[in-house]
Amino acid sequence: IDIRLKNRYLPISTMQPSSNHTQSPQTKAHIIAITNQKGGVGKTTTAINFSASLAAAGYRVLLVDFDPQGNASSGVGYSSNRVQRSIYDAIVNESALKDCVYSTEIPTLFLVPATIDLVGAEIEIITTDQREYVLSQKLESVRNQYDYIVIDCPPALGILTLNALVAADSIVVPMQAEYFALEGLSALMKTVTNIQQKYNPRLHIDGVIFCMCDDRTNLSKQVQHEVQTHLGHHVFSTRIPRNVRLSEAPSHGKPILLYDLHSTGCKGYFKFAQEYIEKQQR
Ligand code: ATP
Ligand code: MG
Repeated sequence: IDIRLKNRYLPISTMQPSSNHTQSPQTKAHIIAITNQKGGVGKTTTAINFSASLAAAGYRVLLVDFDPQGNASSGVGYSSNRVQRSIYDAIVNESALKDCVYSTEIPTLFLVPATIDLVGAEIEIITTDQREYVLSQKLESVRNQYDYIVIDCPPALGILTLNALVAADSIVVPMQAEYFALEGLSALMKTVTNIQQKYNPRLHIDGVIFCMCDDRTNLSKQVQHEVQTHLGHHVFSTRIPRNVRLSEAPSHGKPILLYDLHSTGCKGYFKFAQEYIEKQQR
């Protein structure tokens, strides 16, 4: 990938490449869980393309696929037949997490893949001590090697998502601007509060990112307005448009920036990454 990309879309002043703040053992990745128990809202698309956008800006990023569907893995070129060791091996078979990390076509983007095996992990985790901390403990061992760790969560509030939220510093909530968007949001907020109190006081909400937006419809505008009223500054101002190129890219095993750099979807995710960094620096 041509790293000059970032100069075109992402102002270098806001997107500091990791080469400028060389990794020291004290550096710890910021861990972001991409979560919403509602299915098909854009979690995986966001996990892949947000990670890729941060990586294109020079940050070292580890994308952790924590959904047995394995869509984040295949979306960056690792369908299950290419995976020898997955997140399952790290959390159940005691493999070192570093041995489950794969490189991708983007030099600063790395992947810990998931396969369908992960379904079994739910049951196995439940019987272990400290079952809420399994992922957190594993990530700790690689945390000083990355600037960001992005976790793609499954569409449920089960033990896997619980582990992701216990490991995370913050969450990004992809949402579709449709009639039932707010349904389930209060359950998610309750879960977050519960986790803050019981397991992880660091956890905070970065915000909601609207995905698959179609600003021509009144319903979409109405829902965005309603969510904004409920959540205020917890809504990112970037909107990801509905864009067919975003839905095509995974079947080629590529993040959007390697599939169609000039698409509206690609620009949307670059803008989101930029907004995220700016918000974090404030
Ligand atoms: P699940 O809950 O099953 O894990 P998800 O929340 O991860 O789903 P995605 O897989 O990212 O959601 O998206 C659902 C579908 O919508 C996919 O086919 C994806 O390609 C498509 N999609 C996501 N975002 C967009 C977009 N902005 N424009 C067009 N299609 C999109
Ligand atoms: Mg998904």
